[in-house]
Amino acid sequence: MPERIGLFGGTFDPPHVGHLVTAVNVRHALNLDRVLLMVANNPWQKEGSRPITPAEDRAALVEAAVRNVPGIEVGYEEINRGGPSYTADTLAELAERYRGAELFTIVGDDAAAGFPSWERFPEVLELSTVIVVDRPGAPVVLPTGIPWVRVEVPRLEVSSTDLRARFSDGRPLDYLVTSPVMEKIRERGLYGITEAAAK
Ligand code: ATP
Ligand code: MG
Repeated sequence: MPERIGLFGGTFDPPHVGHLVTAVNVRHALNLDRVLLMVANNPWQKEGSRPITPAEDRAALVEAAVRNVPGIEVGYEEINRGGPSYTADTLAELAERYRGAELFTIVGDDAAAGFPSWERFPEVLELSTVIVVDRPGAPVVLPTGIPWVRVEVPRLEVSSTDLRARFSDGRPLDYLVTSPVMEKIRERGLYGITEAAAK
C-alpha cells in the first residue's frame, strides 16, 4: 500500500484547536498515515497586511501543538526552502521525498474559496487530491470546476486572527489553544505575552 500523506498548510500564527481538530479528523476519515502541518515560510497572500511572527517561532508553536499526537507532524519544507511558500512547490518536494506516496492537500473553506488564485494551482491538482473541510450540515459554496473531495469535520469557530486580538486586549485563550502551545508562547514572549506577565 502506498503511504498516504496529508498536507495541511498554514501560517499557524498561532496554531489553535480548530487546526488540530481538522488534522486528526481528516487523518481518520481518509485513513492517512500522517498529516503534515506545513508552516508557511512567507505566506505571500498575507504579506503586507499585518506583521507576521517569525517562521521559526510559528514552527516551535506547531511542534508544541503536535507533540504526542500520533500521525500529526510539523512540516519544515517551506521554511527550509525559504522565500514565498507555494503549495505546488511543496507537493513537488514531498513527491520526491516520499516516492510513490499518495498526497492530499487539505484546505479549510476560506482557503478553498481562494484556491483559484494560488500560484500554479493546476499543479496542486495534478500532484494531490484536494480535500475541503466542511462543517457538518452546511457545506460551503466553492468555486466551480475543481474536483474537490469534501470531508466533514466538527468546525470550531476559532481563528488565529481572533486569538491575536485576544492576546492584545487580555481576553482568555484557555481551551482555544492547547496548554503546551500557551507555554511555548510565554517562553518565547510572543504576542506581547511574557512569562513574568503571565504569572
Ligand atoms: P488567520 O486568522 O491568521 O488567517 P487561521 O486561523 O485562518 O489564521 P491559517 O494559518 O490562516 O489559520 O489557516 C491554515 C489552514 O487552516 C487553512 O486551510 C484554513 O482554512 C484552516 N483553518 C483555519 N481555522 C480553521 C478552523 N477553525 N477549523 C478548520 N480549519 C481552519
Ligand atoms: Mg486564515
